[in-house]
Amino acid sequence: MIAVELLGKIKSKWLARASQELAQAEGVRQSFSFELDRFYDLLLEALDSDNPLALAPLLTEWVNARPESDIRQKDTSLFPLLSKIQSITHQVTREELNPEQALDLIDYLLPVFVSVFQFVADCEADLFIAQYSKESENARLSLEKLDKSKSDFIAVAAHELKTPLTLIEGYASMLREVLQKVNGDGHFSQYLDGIGQGTHRLREIVKDMIDVSLIDNNMLFLNYQPVWMNRLLRIVEADISSSAELRQQTLKIASIDGGDEMSFVDPERLYQAFRNLISNAIKYTPDGGMISVAGRQLPGFFEIIVADTGIGIAPEDHERIFEKFSRSANVSLHSSGKIKFKGGGPGLGLPITKGIIEAHGGTIWVNSPGCDEVSCPGSEFHILLPIRKQPPGENFAKLYEPLIQLNQIRGESYSRSMEKSA
Ligand code: ADP
Repeated sequence: MIAVELLGKIKSKWLARASQELAQAEGVRQSFSFELDRFYDLLLEALDSDNPLALAPLLTEWVNARPESDIRQKDTSLFPLLSKIQSITHQVTREELNPEQALDLIDYLLPVFVSVFQFVADCEADLFIAQYSKESENARLSLEKLDKSKSDFIAVAAHELKTPLTLIEGYASMLREVLQKVNGDGHFSQYLDGIGQGTHRLREIVKDMIDVSLIDNNMLFLNYQPVWMNRLLRIVEADISSSAELRQQTLKIASIDGGDEMSFVDPERLYQAFRNLISNAIKYTPDGGMISVAGRQLPGFFEIIVADTGIGIAPEDHERIFEKFSRSANVSLHSSGKIKFKGGGPGLGLPITKGIIEAHGGTIWVNSPGCDEVSCPGSEFHILLPIRKQPPGENFAKLYEPLIQLNQIRGESYSRSMEKSA
């Protein structure tokens, strides 16, 4: 083939020029000349076989020869080197061959070089993607490790705090008894009350820490029991309305459609979740504000919404607040009580609430236009909770079988009486 002959003719000149121009340092010239020689032979083979991919193994070797740290830098791409090789080829062709031959050879070489560039671009992109995936996988693994050590720390700290806390509580109550015997109702009792409040708060924090580590380790086991959702909400209301009154807030907890029917949940855990949400609503709403809990029955689910007229939550914090120890910027950094305006806390309430809802097979999210202490746009926490008419697990199902049947009979006669009256 004429092109192969023409290219063969100019090889020695091309090799000398390319080695001279591309490998400036004397030390590397020899090994580089060897690589250029391989390139040239494969270029000849590509022309001869009309297969530009003949160069592929060598190009792959060149692309992979770059150190990992260089892969992300554009100037270490093979493109400048290949452009130089192409332009040296054109120069030498023009110098060594007559114009017609030169034009012919350049014409033949053009598609080969286009394929070479295309192949290298694909290889470099693949390498680049592989390098990035490796880095993001490493980052994910170290984040996982960090989270694991955070969670281990919480578990150990909670465990270690429990013993001295029990000691303080025990000694404080002994001290109260002794001092009462000696002094009657002396002024010391207010100091002991202070110790009592402090240890109570500390115990709540320790309990939260234990709950968070249970959730982190997938060990939050639910104790499913028959529950009438509206009754549960009434209990929460009775327990928390005094806190709202202290802040001159209006707390309205409406009954949910279908909430008078029996369903299976863990009542203690669900109570804890509602309490966390309503306490937060109280805490992050100015005095005189309004907190409401309302819900509706959807096919297979209850949707319950805890809304407030408080400071609201910036959109960028909507997911973050469900992570442990997170808080939005407008909240004070120290824990200053459960209901004080913007009192802050350890940042465990929402992760626990989320863990409880998710353990029930539900989901929780927040809607809020933003955080503004002056205009108080408010927040709405939405919960979707599956309605279970049977407890999970055979043993529980057997245990509650009579109750479930009784409930079905009552439900049927209730709907019949409704039909009659209608
Ligand atoms: P804590 O209240 O102990 O800081 P939480 O996990 O209960 O922790 O809440 C995390 C953060 O979410 C809070 O610090 C607060 O910034 C924000 N937040 C939670 N509920 C509300 C609410 N109803 N209104 C405004 N911000 C809220």
